[in-house]
Amino acid sequence: MNCIFCKIANKEIPSQIVFEDDNVIAFKDLNPQAPVHILVIPKNHISSINEINSENSYVVSKIFEAINKIVVQENISESGYRVISNCGENGCQTVMHLHFHILGGKKLSETF
Ligand code: 5GP
Ligand code: ZN
Repeated sequence: MNCIFCKIANKEIPSQIVFEDDNVIAFKDLNPQAPVHILVIPKNHISSINEINSENSYVVSKIFEAINKIVVQENISESGYRVISNCGENGCQTVMHLHFHILGGKKLSETF
């Protein structure tokens, strides 16, 4: 499968990894939209939120446990941050491997 985030998870292409465990990997976004912009992904390929089901949904809680650790590590847990997962065309999803953006380090826009 020609999935760029699978390749990042498999270390076939380099990224700035900030967190990793058995199920989850997190790395800095290539084109940051905020001082802190990290992508958190399941190591297993799931295309988008639409593909979450009772078999694979455990990884979503693993992702949020990881987010909790990452925001402490990045020192934005107290100042605040936003977690976003874009889905499909109207959601402006460009990489078809489930991912959660962590954005922080500045006051974010209230509007989209
Ligand atoms: P989406 O638009 O699908 O929600 O977000 C995809 C994100 O992946 C974008 O913010 C984009 O900058 C980031 N991205 C795309 N390709 C790469 C890559 O090869 N490495 C890294 N670190 N980020 C990437
Ligand atoms: Zn993938």
